Amino acid sequence: MTETTAPKMEERLYQNRYLVDEGRPHIRIRQQDADSPELRALMSICPAGCYVEGADGRVEIASDGCMECGTCRIVCQATGEIEWSYPRGGYGVLFKFG
Ligand code: SF4
Repeated sequence: MTETTAPKMEERLYQNRYLVDEGRPHIRIRQQDADSPELRALMSICPAGCYVEGADGRVEIASDGCMECGTCRIVCQATGEIEWSYPRGGYGVLFKFG
């Protein structure tokens, strides 16, 4: 009997496709004097792993794999550190269903 296992999250995310709008990221960080705990938490919360710590210790974003879930927008709503909009039409994530 063969055992089947559900695909891991990373494998599921790999099925999605993205059309990157070069030079026009749809999410930006509004740098403040220091990163808030909310912004730093995005390095763990973002399901696509878009937030990372840069060489200078500050939080950076690479929005290319963004799933447009809006979590970062909500988490940092009070701090105002995230500038968020949907990608232009035709760009962004293309989900694979099934
Ligand atoms: Fe990550 Fe969702 Fe924010 Fe995109 S919208 S960067 S997937 S938390």
